[in-house]
Amino acid sequence: MPSFAADVKNALSRTDVDRACCQTAELAALLRMGASVQTDGARGAGLRFTAASAAVARRVIRLLRAMDGAIETSVAMERMPQLRRRTYIVNIAAGAAVTPLLAQLGFAGGSLRSTSDLALLRKKCCRAAYLRGAFLGGGSVNRPEAACHLEITARSEEMARALHTLLRRLHFPVGLTDRHEMYVVYLKEGDAVMDFLSLIGAEEAAEEIEVARNLKEVRAQVNRLVNVETANLQRAVDAAADQLAAIERLARSGRLAALPADLRETAEMRRAHPEISMAELAALCHISKSGMSHRLRKIRKASEEEQD
Ligand SMILES: [Zn+2]
Repeated sequence: MPSFAADVKNALSRTDVDRACCQTAELAALLRMGASVQTDGARGAGLRFTAASAAVARRVIRLLRAMDGAIETSVAMERMPQLRRRTYIVNIAAGAAVTPLLAQLGFAGGSLRSTSDLALLRKKCCRAAYLRGAFLGGGSVNRPEAACHLEITARSEEMARALHTLLRRLHFPVGLTDRHEMYVVYLKEGDAVMDFLSLIGAEEAAEEIEVARNLKEVRAQVNRLVNVETANLQRAVDAAADQLAAIERLARSGRLAALPADLRETAEMRRAHPEISMAELAALCHISKSGMSHRLRKIRKASEEEQD
């Protein structure tokens, strides 16, 4: 996981959620993203939640305790050498307290898949909390300097579709794709990524992205200006080269001396200053730019007549 995304999640894990309705919504989304039901014979259903970071594991425990202080939890760390990282497992022991909790979270019948979370999403505050839970459970976001991209990877297509629908209803330009048997809901537009982060409570991250985006825009603008100037300079150099070639042709054939005084003056000035622009040449000859343009056209025409 990129460190910017980890920082965002750590900050989100520390935010306070005061309303019970929002705690339930966030916890439900977190559990849908990373929990599986563990049935334990006579004791009934428990849950096993897998978190990518200690902060997220702590968040789940905190939300569980807020809902029901009697819930028993234990945490284990597992190393995943092939991914060079650790995961944190929160075990919620099977027992009498768990079943009503699961029902309250919308996991009717102990299943993590069968129920829709619509009941949890009636209020605006809860929708934001639900999305925060989903992001904490499976989200990632590019660092501000990179191209704007935020995604939530769900293990089930049902959860991915639910997130996709919810984000679309909130008018986010959201995409949905599958990748290695995972389902990815993503945002690619800078405004959408910033709005999403603000919505779920990661205002600082949204600001960092905005600052980086403004810098990128300034840089692009400077590059465009440099490109325009380079093109202008190239045009001026090409034009000066053409003028010098015409003047040399006239000089070689002896017709330069026969030109009117103003054209001779211009030709001498150009030979003396091959590198300057037409505007600078005009200033040296104390005439207007259009006057200089007119003289240069006459010189070119005279050199072309010479060739016939
Ligand atoms: Zn709420």
